[in-house]
Amino acid sequence: MTNPSARWRALGPLHLDLRTRLTLSVMLIALLSTLGVAAGAFFYIRNNTLEVIASDQMQRTVAIAEAIDQKFISRRVLLKAFAESLEAQQLRGTAQLQPFLLRHTALMEVFDNVAVLDRTGNLVANYLGLEALGKLNLADRPYFIETLASDKGVISQPVRNRSRGVAQVLMTQPVHDASGNIVYVINGQITLEKPNFLGELAGLKFGKTGYVFITNTNGIVIDSPRKGRILKHFDAEGGHNEATTLAVAGFEGTTDAVNRLGVHALYAFKQTRQTNWIIGTHYPYNEAFADLRRVEQLTSMGALALSLLVGGLALLLLRRQLAPLGRLHEHMLATQAAARYVPLQAEYPPDELGDLARSFDLLMTERQSAREQLEASENYLREVLRHAGDAFVAIDGQARISEWNHQAEVIFGHSREQAMGQSLTELMVPAAMRPGCQAGMAEFLHSGVGPLVGKRREIDALHRDGHTIPVELSIAAMKVGDHFIAHAFLRDISERQAAEERIAASGKLLQDIADNMPSLVARLDSSMRYTFVNAHFQKAFPGRSFIGKAMQEVYDEAEFPIVEPWARKALSGERVTFEKQGAMHSSYSETRFEITYIPDWDADGRVRGFFSMSFDITERKRVENAIAANEAKLRGITDNLPALVAHLDADQRFTFVNGEVREWWGKEPASLIGHTMREVVGEMFYARVQPMLQRALAGERLEFESQRTVDGALRDAHSIFVPEFDAEGAVVGVFVMTINITELKTAQRKLALQARVDSLTQLANRVAFNEAMPLMLARSKRSGDALAVMYLDIDHFKAINDSLGHAAGDEVLCEFARRLEASVRTTDLVVRLAGDEFVVVLENLSGPEVASAVAQKIVVQVARPVFNVHDQPLSITTSIGILFHSHTSPPTTPAELLARADGALYAAKAAGRNRFEFAA
Ligand code: GH3
Ligand code: MG
Repeated sequence: MTNPSARWRALGPLHLDLRTRLTLSVMLIALLSTLGVAAGAFFYIRNNTLEVIASDQMQRTVAIAEAIDQKFISRRVLLKAFAESLEAQQLRGTAQLQPFLLRHTALMEVFDNVAVLDRTGNLVANYLGLEALGKLNLADRPYFIETLASDKGVISQPVRNRSRGVAQVLMTQPVHDASGNIVYVINGQITLEKPNFLGELAGLKFGKTGYVFITNTNGIVIDSPRKGRILKHFDAEGGHNEATTLAVAGFEGTTDAVNRLGVHALYAFKQTRQTNWIIGTHYPYNEAFADLRRVEQLTSMGALALSLLVGGLALLLLRRQLAPLGRLHEHMLATQAAARYVPLQAEYPPDELGDLARSFDLLMTERQSAREQLEASENYLREVLRHAGDAFVAIDGQARISEWNHQAEVIFGHSREQAMGQSLTELMVPAAMRPGCQAGMAEFLHSGVGPLVGKRREIDALHRDGHTIPVELSIAAMKVGDHFIAHAFLRDISERQAAEERIAASGKLLQDIADNMPSLVARLDSSMRYTFVNAHFQKAFPGRSFIGKAMQEVYDEAEFPIVEPWARKALSGERVTFEKQGAMHSSYSETRFEITYIPDWDADGRVRGFFSMSFDITERKRVENAIAANEAKLRGITDNLPALVAHLDADQRFTFVNGEVREWWGKEPASLIGHTMREVVGEMFYARVQPMLQRALAGERLEFESQRTVDGALRDAHSIFVPEFDAEGAVVGVFVMTINITELKTAQRKLALQARVDSLTQLANRVAFNEAMPLMLARSKRSGDALAVMYLDIDHFKAINDSLGHAAGDEVLCEFARRLEASVRTTDLVVRLAGDEFVVVLENLSGPEVASAVAQKIVVQVARPVFNVHDQPLSITTSIGILFHSHTSPPTTPAELLARADGALYAAKAAGRNRFEFAA
C-alpha cells in the first residue's frame, strides 16, 4: 500500500497549491471580466466612433464640395458681372476689349487667365499672352460649343492647356449684343495644379496620411496628392478602388475599402453641384482608429494591471482567509508523517474552516485513541500469546507461517525469525505424513474444513532437530477474502504421555507393593465402596467379595457403627488411626487390629476416597499389656521412695517417672512421658544437667549435687545418673535418682559461716579475710581502682588488760571494732585478725590521699575519750600501717600485702604510736 502522504507529496509538484489556484482564478476572472466589459465597450465605441468618424468625414467632405461650389459660384458672379459690363458698353474688337480686360485685375485674382473669344472661336482678348491674339481658335472646344449651344456659362471638363500644358478647367460666360445674340464668349481659366483655386482644401488632411481627391463622374482625376494622376482615369495606374468606382457610379456618402496600395481606409464622397466633380476623402482606417486603439491598448493594459492588482489583493485576502486552511494542511501533512497524532495547538476561527479543523482534530483524536486501543489490544494479545503455555502458530492463505509465539520457539526449536514465512507442512509435518497433509491443507485453505479443524487432536509434529513431538492440536479456521487461514494452539504433551506411561507402570508397582504388604490394604471411594483390596486382605476373608460393595454391607450391624465415624473423618480429610477388637463381624473377635484410614486426595485437593490399612496387633497388645503391668508394679515401689526416680531413653525422653515428680516439679508423672528432659526442666536448668546426661549416656555412672528453686525456695539435690545398657552393651537410656539434701546442706553452710566471724567483735576473722582478699585484688585489677590495706594495733593494750582486767579489755576490743566500722564505708572490709590487731581494706580508691584521710579519721575516732569501761571513761590510741595498692603496682599476694602493711605498722609504733604510716 502506498503511503498516502507520499502520494500527496508526489502529486504536489504537478498541482499548484490551492491558494495560488484560487488567486489565479480570481485574476483570470478579473481579467476576463475587465476585458469582456472593455471589449463590449470597445465594440460599442468602435461602432459609434466609426459612425461619428464617418459622419465627420462626410461633413468635411460635404464642406469641401460646398466650398468648391462656392468658388465656382463666386467666379461665375465675377464672370457674369464682367460679361454684363461688356454688354452694357457695347465694346467690340481687340482694341476695345483688350484694354477693358486688363483693367479688370480683380478677375486675375480668381482666374489664372481670362480670354475673350468671338463667336467663331478666335481669341479676341487675352489677359496673359498678347502674342496669341488672332492666332488661336478654340471653336472646337466642347465647352465653347456647349456655351454657344446652351447660351449659358459652363464649366469645362478638365483639360490640358495647349500652350502651357497645365491641367485646367475653364469657366465660360456668353456676352450678348443688344438683340440678345451671343457675340463673345468669356473664358476664365482655372489651373488645377495651382493652389489658388482649391486653396487649402486640397491640402486638408484626414489623420496623418489621409487626403482629399477629386474626380469627375467620368472617373478622370481632377485633384490628387499625387499630381501625376491628374487628368488620368483613376484606374489608369492599375489596381482597383471599389469605393471610387462606386462614387463614379453615382454613390454619395461614406464607405470603407482597400485602395490600390492595399491601405484600408474610410471613404466619403460628395458631388459638387456646379460641375460633375466628385469630392472624395480618403481616411486610413488605422489613423481613424489610432486614438481608439491607443485607448484600447491602455484599457487592456489597465485591465491586466487591474486583474493583477485584484489577483494580488485576492492573494492577500485569500492568504489571510485561508491561513487556517494552510495551517490545517501543514498539520495534516505533519499528521501523515508522524507516528502519533498530535492534537491541534492553534485556535481556529468559529467558521467553516474552524469547523473543518475541529472536525479533523476530533476525527484524528478519535482515530488515534482507536488506534491506541487497537495497539493496546494487539499488544495485549501478543503478550497473551507470548506468555501462553501452548505454542501458537498461524498460517496465511498459502499455508505459510504468519505467527510463531515464544512457546512455539521453545517446543519446536525454530526461532520466530526462522519460522515466519516458512511452509507449515515443510517445517512441522513429519516427512511420512507430508503428502497427505499437503492435500488436506489445500482443501482446508479452499473450504475451511479439514479433519483436524474444530477438534482437539493429538498428532506428532516435527522438532527442528528432526525428532517428533506429540502435541495436542486445536485449530480455528478464519475466512479472509475467498480463502481460509488458520490459528492453532499446540500443546506439548510429551510429558503428559510419559506421565501416563509412568502412572500405568506405577499402578502395577502399587498393586505389587500392596499385595506384598503384611497388612490388609483396601481402598474405598467417597461413597465408602471398596474399589481395591490387596491379596492379603482377600486371603484374610476367603470366599468373600469386596469390590463395588459398600462398607455398610461388609460390616455387620454391631461393627459398622464403630468404624463409620472414623471413615467419615477420613473422608473429611483427616488421617486417623484407631484400634478395634475383631474385624467385620464377630467371628474375628479374637484378633485386635490397628486400623489407619488415609484420605486419598485428587489433584484439585478433594478427597475422593480413602485407603484402609489394618494391622493385626493382637500379639503386640499382649506384650504391651505385660509391660504395663510390670511398670505398675515398679511405680508402686518407687512411688514410696523419698526420691525422684525417672528413666530417660537415648533421646533423653522420659519413659518413666515416679510420683515424687508431683512434689519436685508440680507435674503429673503421665504428663512427662514422651517429653524430653529439656522440655520438662527448661533451658536454664537443662544447660547445667545436659553435660551430666551426656556423660551418663556415654556410659558413665555419676553423682553430683545441684541447687534449684522449688516453690520459691532453694533446694539442694543430690543426683545419681546410672546408664542403662542393652544386651550388646550399648547405652539405651539413663536411670535418674534425685534426693532432697537441703537440710543437710543448710547445716553445713551454717557451720562454714561460723568459722569466718570473730566471736567477740562479730567482725570478719582471718579466715574470712583470707577468702575475701584474693577477690578484692581481682576486682581491683579488673576495675583499675586502687585499694588500701590498713593494719591496726591498739597502743599499750596490755596495760588495759593488766590494769582493768581481761573482760574490760574485751569491751575495749568491741568498742574499738564499732568505731572502726563507723569510720569506713559499709562495703569496706573490717577484720579482727587476732588479739588487738585489726585490718581494714578500703576499695575503689582514687588515690593514697583518700586512704590517709580515712586513717586520720580512724586515729581521731579511736582517740575520743568516751570509752566506758566499768563506767570509767577511758582513752586509747591506735597505730596504723597502710599499704596502698593500685593496679599499676606489681602483682602481689594477700600475705605479702599484709606483711608490708605490718611493716608500716611497726614503723608507726616506732615513731611514737597514735599515728599512721604508709608502706614504702
Ligand atoms: P603495743 O603498744 O606495743 O602494742 O603494746 P601492747 O601492750 O598493746 O602489746 P601487745 O599488742 O603485744 O599486746 C597484746 C596483748 O593483748 C597481749 C594479750 O595479753 C592481750 N590479749 C590478747 N588476746 C586478748 C583477748 O582476747 N582479750 C583481752 N582482754 N586481752 C587479750
Ligand atoms: Mg597492742
